Amino acid sequence: MPAPTVVIVGAGQAGSQTATSLREEGFAGRIILIGDEPHLPYQRPPLSKGHITGNSSRDRLWLHPRSFYEQHEVEVLLSERVTTIDRAAGTVLLDSGVSLGYDHLVIATGARNRSLPLQGAALDGVVGLRTLTEADDIRCRLADVSNVVVVGGGFIGLEVASTAVKLKIPTVVVELADRLMGRVLSPRMGDYLLDAHRSRGLHVELGVNVANFSGRDGRVTTVTTSDGREFPADLVLVGVGAVPNTELADAAGLPTDNGILVDEFLTTADPRISAVGDCAACPNPYAQGRIVRLESVHNATAQPRCLAARIAGTPEPYHSVPWFWSDQADLKLQIAGLTTGSDESVVRGSPADGKFSVFCFDDGTLRAVESLNRPGDHMASRKLLSAGGTLTPEQAADTAFDLKAHIATLV
Ligand SMILES: Cc1cc2nc3c(=O)[nH]c(=O)nc-3n(C[C@H](O)[C@H](O)[C@H](O)COP(=O)(O)OP(=O)(O)OC[C@H]3O[C@@H](n4cnc5c(N)ncnc54)[C@H](O)[C@@H]3O)c2cc1C
Repeated sequence: MPAPTVVIVGAGQAGSQTATSLREEGFAGRIILIGDEPHLPYQRPPLSKGHITGNSSRDRLWLHPRSFYEQHEVEVLLSERVTTIDRAAGTVLLDSGVSLGYDHLVIATGARNRSLPLQGAALDGVVGLRTLTEADDIRCRLADVSNVVVVGGGFIGLEVASTAVKLKIPTVVVELADRLMGRVLSPRMGDYLLDAHRSRGLHVELGVNVANFSGRDGRVTTVTTSDGREFPADLVLVGVGAVPNTELADAAGLPTDNGILVDEFLTTADPRISAVGDCAACPNPYAQGRIVRLESVHNATAQPRCLAARIAGTPEPYHSVPWFWSDQADLKLQIAGLTTGSDESVVRGSPADGKFSVFCFDDGTLRAVESLNRPGDHMASRKLLSAGGTLTPEQAADTAFDLKAHIATLV
């Protein structure tokens, strides 16, 4: 019998990790990694951090050099878009007209920025940030702008905004909700970060909608909010979330719902097709079994590892503790677990010193820990959550309580 072929659609973090993990698991068949961007797979997190200041070199973005893929016999097809999945034939069609057969297909198509269908959104200077090409463009623009407006107070928006403030560019964040990062952070941490950003010189407007963008000679000059105020801007970053790239799966008749629906083994409704990373929606034990879609490097590396093990013959359900980080100027935020749905939170450490963690509980069970400049708490929390989250709020708040020793009694 010929060795099986795995075709991976999407040469991002999850696609590249799938190929890498398959080889680590001893998979000896053919691996074809197809990406529609012109670049080798790269890391996106630096794009909204060091890369836009020009402080990090491009070479540090690549997940692996080209030689790595050659050595591991991973065929990488770049600037190629998969347009159709033919499940009956077991083939994918590329926009170049090439058809490729698969024994197993992995969809790792990621997500794209949500657009704002507002008047003026097409003006020069109104930008989004997801790709290296977009980051290069923002880097050039930042060198020569007078006023930045960021629409959306989420992670990427705040990272770019704090970078602009560091570059001494007057910067305004306009956020529709009444809190920063409200969907993913506890009110305590969100409120702290709001004060911290304001004290560092960032102008934050909460509870305000953007009405339109206007400009001169095709270039943006002004952001008008729904309450009629005007903010000068020669660079506007729209960071209002992402939508998963599910169109291929939809067209192939695979169920989707804010993501390609997969089971705990990351398999779609078709046993020959799996989905991983930002595009996949999966039952998550750390969300009490609810189906969630996560956008994080951890998710885009841990899911492919789990999937590769299954394809190579050792299936295990996916149950990795979710974690995430965000660097906003000197504010190093790390989150373990999923914050949504907690009914009690306690603080460990010193907010006054800018080093503390918020431990979030639901019905007495630890669900998530948000750490600011306290990496030790973050590492301990991941282990704690993995071991079942047995900790009382009193223990969490007591800095004399030894988390490491406690974890040792649990594992
Ligand atoms: C600016 C930025 C900063 C971030 N910072 C952090 C951070 O600090 N911490 C953190 O944990 N996470 C961060 N993330 C999130 C993290 O980078 C993503 O969760 C991760 O990249 C997801 O990997 P993925 O492979 O699922 O998707 P992607 O990396 O988006 O890769 C998907 C690839 O598939 C391609 N593709 C889509 N459709 C097709 C098709 N039909 N044919 C061929 N190719 C296709 C896409 O163009 C893309 O190249 C950040 C993301 C961004 C954009």
